[in-house]
Amino acid sequence: MSCLAAALLYAKRGFRAFPLHSVQQGACTCQEWRDRNAKGLCPTPGKHPRFNNWQERATCDALAIEQFWRSDKRSNVGIATGADSRVFVLDVDPKNGGQESIDTLVLKHGRIRSEERRVGKECRSRWSPYH
Ligand SMILES: [Zn+2]
Repeated sequence: MSCLAAALLYAKRGFRAFPLHSVQQGACTCQEWRDRNAKGLCPTPGKHPRFNNWQERATCDALAIEQFWRSDKRSNVGIATGADSRVFVLDVDPKNGGQESIDTLVLKHGRIRSEERRVGKECRSRWSPYH
């Protein structure tokens, strides 16, 4: 499944999607612009939005999403989380005590319901419904 197809599936679920840069041949797709503007290496390759006002432009509209990916088919998928998408994200980093933190949260509040989907070779995601 392509990232465009994944973005369209997310949109059908009510998740507001937007395009992220991606890593191609070991470099972020923003690197050419960064090189032209003497900005150095991208600090977050493939993990940042393709435009600044992504919070406002993230959408569930299929035509707008297709237009985003038409400008660059290599884009990764971003989801504007929070109440609008009815999704929250909890990033558990085991290298920095994340497992202990999540265990403490689960003991205090109960198990966190979440879903994980592998959507093709390039895209995989895990999310929790927003209550
Ligand atoms: Zn970049």
